[in-house]
Amino acid sequence: MDKSSMDSPGSKSAKRPCISPSSPDTAPKTSIGNQIFCNRPLYMKSIKAVGFDMDYTLAQYKVDTFESLVYQQTVQNLVCKYNYPSELLSWVFDSDYMVRGLVIDKKEGNILKMDCYKYVKVAYHGFKELSKEEKLLIYGNTLVSTSYDQPEYALIDTLFSLAEAYLFAQLVEFKDKYPGKFLKPVDYACLYKDVRKAVDLCHRDGTLKQKVAEDPKRYINEDKSIVPMLKGLRESNRATFMVTNSLWDYTCVVMNFICGSSAVNDGTKFDWLQYFDVVITGSAKPNFFKEDNHANLFEVEPESGMLINTNDGSPLLQVGNIIARVSTKDKSSARKVFQGGNVVHLYPLLEIEASSQVLYVGDHIYGDILSSKKTLGWRTMLVIPELDREVQLLRKLKKNCENVRSLRSGCIALEDRLHCLNTNQKSNHDENLKHERDKMRLNYQTSLSELHKQFHPKWGQLMKAGYQNSRFAHQVERYACLYTSQVSNLGLSSQNQYYRPNEDSMQHEYAIMDKVDAN
Ligand code: IMP
Ligand code: MG
Repeated sequence: MDKSSMDSPGSKSAKRPCISPSSPDTAPKTSIGNQIFCNRPLYMKSIKAVGFDMDYTLAQYKVDTFESLVYQQTVQNLVCKYNYPSELLSWVFDSDYMVRGLVIDKKEGNILKMDCYKYVKVAYHGFKELSKEEKLLIYGNTLVSTSYDQPEYALIDTLFSLAEAYLFAQLVEFKDKYPGKFLKPVDYACLYKDVRKAVDLCHRDGTLKQKVAEDPKRYINEDKSIVPMLKGLRESNRATFMVTNSLWDYTCVVMNFICGSSAVNDGTKFDWLQYFDVVITGSAKPNFFKEDNHANLFEVEPESGMLINTNDGSPLLQVGNIIARVSTKDKSSARKVFQGGNVVHLYPLLEIEASSQVLYVGDHIYGDILSSKKTLGWRTMLVIPELDREVQLLRKLKKNCENVRSLRSGCIALEDRLHCLNTNQKSNHDENLKHERDKMRLNYQTSLSELHKQFHPKWGQLMKAGYQNSRFAHQVERYACLYTSQVSNLGLSSQNQYYRPNEDSMQHEYAIMDKVDAN
């Protein structure tokens, strides 16, 4: 496996800034919001196949309309199917409230934002912010071994989870105020479980998909640069493939829309298939990436949507002979649409030799990125639509950031001085210095908090928690070789781009660099 693609467990490279790898001499200038940022060196020349997730990767949903739809359908399900109070039907969804990277504490009814060390930095119970003391009481202040993972916690690591997190917060508040309104005794964990079931149902019973199919423009952003990006990859002799958890009929609607076909709901038009060598639908990621997962691979007949190698749903042929057929040189006659299976089925279809020759682009830090990188050693690119706004704001607020940084340095210098005076017992009561320290600390804390609020009034900057990297940023650094705001940014750089990160720096190097700057 390519060494550069491997994760380095335990290494904390959070202090290493990421930069656009574009060489200023050769590459056209790309706006900061469209840049591809690099965590680990990646030479596109060594990539033989580029794969894509579909939902929230190739298809960028409009969070306000799409997640509102999820929210409304979920509320309907809760009231009509799970006997929740009818008051819920008048509730409204605020699509700006929740952000990716948060963690739901199901038992306590809290929503948390933590830093890269899993210290809880911001916590809300429903919509009420917990005080420092309340936070300490529940989550402590020491390096504890709490993993903040399933099953006690739920991770909001895809934009698909924003509506359910918001509805959960509403239900927590509602239960606290009106516990008697529920027909059965419920605790917070039970509320979460019901919300999850209700969301799951509206994804699975076709109601959401039907609405999107009726009016895709309302729910999905048009992006005319996706087709040229896909064409460019294919012209560079790379295989392109898609692995999506969506089923064929929906995949077809969405892909027709984003590839600009006028025949969005015409079940006989599949022009977009020309941009892919293989399309795997209903893939059940992350299990798809497990080589020991024995899921059957079915061939899909695009025209009818039928699974070909089944007999009333039971598998007939195993797919070996299909692979042989698809792998023939005459691609025009080959089938390329499948359902299910696992990564072992994919390799012969793509004719690649090593896992490090695959670049996979997805939006789900766990389901797409962590799983494919950790278990297979694929190279990965994470799509983070929120990044565009985050980097624009960072640039705009550069001076504020510098100010906060220098306030922090000032605080530390004063703390050190006071500590020194105390330990040398020169003065135990340097009140003036203490006063100055307190003033500066308050100033620092207020400025840091104000800075965060410019990014998001409740949760602050996506990639930071306090002055450190957020848990989400930490995951991005560990598992995504590349990250960018939208998939089509891949078409803006050369097909043979050498993506390189900035050099790593350790704390002692910073200390020396700072000294050099100061002298
Ligand atoms: P992908 O991102 O292209 O792999 O596809 C994601 C698919 O998962 C979409 O069809 C979503 O509708 C579906 N999905 C998202 N959240 C849920 C859920 O909670 N339950 C079932 N399906 C989901
Ligand atoms: Mg996705």
